[in-house]
Amino acid sequence: MTVRTRFAPSPTGDLHVGGARTALFCWLFARRHGGSFVLRIEDTDRARSTEASVESILQGLAWLGLDWDEGPIFQSRRLARYREQLRRLLESGDAYHCDCSRERLAALRESQRARGEKPRYDGRCRERRAAPRNGDAAVLRFRNPLAGEVVVEDAVKGRMSFANAELDDLVIARADGAPTYNFTVVVDDLDFGISHVIRGDDHVNNTPRQINLLHALGGEVPVYAHLPMIFASDGRRMAKREGADAVTGFRDAGYLPEALVNHLARLGWSHGDRELFSREELIRLFDLAAVHRSASIFDFEKLRWLNQHYIRQAKVETLREPFVRELRRQGLDPGQGPDVDTAIEVQRDRAGTLVDMAGKSAFAYRDLRGYDERAAGKHLRPAALEALLTVRERLAALAVWEAAPLHEAVAGCAEALGLQLGRLAQPLRVALTGSAASPSIEKTLVLVGRPRALARIDAACDHVRRRAARS
Ligand code: GLU
Repeated sequence: MTVRTRFAPSPTGDLHVGGARTALFCWLFARRHGGSFVLRIEDTDRARSTEASVESILQGLAWLGLDWDEGPIFQSRRLARYREQLRRLLESGDAYHCDCSRERLAALRESQRARGEKPRYDGRCRERRAAPRNGDAAVLRFRNPLAGEVVVEDAVKGRMSFANAELDDLVIARADGAPTYNFTVVVDDLDFGISHVIRGDDHVNNTPRQINLLHALGGEVPVYAHLPMIFASDGRRMAKREGADAVTGFRDAGYLPEALVNHLARLGWSHGDRELFSREELIRLFDLAAVHRSASIFDFEKLRWLNQHYIRQAKVETLREPFVRELRRQGLDPGQGPDVDTAIEVQRDRAGTLVDMAGKSAFAYRDLRGYDERAAGKHLRPAALEALLTVRERLAALAVWEAAPLHEAVAGCAEALGLQLGRLAQPLRVALTGSAASPSIEKTLVLVGRPRALARIDAACDHVRRRAARS
């Protein structure tokens, strides 16, 4: 069988973690089996679908590296095809017009509820052969089989069976002729030869209805795989957390796509107790049989840990563009400081995200905005003046401004002054960066560059003198 999967988001919001996980599993399964991954945008609900959501979905998928082989197929452009298939069902007797009024349906639901029954359509229009009395107000319903059951061999959840007696005669087209969700899904899954429907388990209850529709349209039933829900570590459903989980939000928060893909893969799927998987390994190892039945937890801490790992591992070229973007976003000018590759090399072991990495590099890309009060109080004291003046002299005399000679100069200076290295390095660090935390002193000097470094040491000496004058 040729494997063909599809990801079918409704563009009514950003691409969120849950949708991204579904897309990833569909993509992995297709890649694993040399099949195709189809992207379908379910935008028949014109009132709720937006261009911006489509954009966010496409951007999110592209950023995650989930490339699709076909599509995007927009359902809104396939209305003629849906009408054709609706007509077919009407002609074969598998669909019928229903002009029951809203009021009647509401009263019906009410009385069923009062009797403790599950609300469902009672089939009043089902056996009527004549045209509806009020054609304009008639919806189309699917004539669901009354007896028997629908058995689903779900690739994740196992065997599930649904009694037809429990299933409603589904509305497949509204009075204005617009096809409904369950109908368009079925037509498209058939037309595009989808072999595996992998989706969130909030769709489980649609599956038996869709299977009955598939039979009526004379199509083969695909394999279904319903993925368990994702919870946030605070116990709330990820899908219910406003804003915090849009895929583009993770990008903007400085995560690498490799880290998010790795974490998403582990949401509901595992391979032993391994945590780290490259994309190639995921493709090689992914298997629907290993998808868990129970819900999984999106763990921000683990994601950060993964991100750190991938930042360390990444080629400088891959980090360059997002790092520059982040510097700019933080109001820093990449042209006003060290070569970004140098900054990346120096900072990559110290940062959990690219936002962090840019923030920690800010001192090298703009003028200092004063000193951290505690750091200056502790390290820029009169006792440090001589050390700062001496090291300035040595640094100014260096022929090359590179890590090794810089280290030698600072260490040699400390020795000459009879100081532990920290006694010199800390005041110097505060002078150069405004704070007491920075990369090693020679790397910090490299990042700041000679002219700025000397000027900052001068400014720190002035600061110390003013302080001495005050006390
Ligand atoms: N459009 C549906 C959604 O966004 C998915 C439909 C499907 O996968 O069958 O939830």
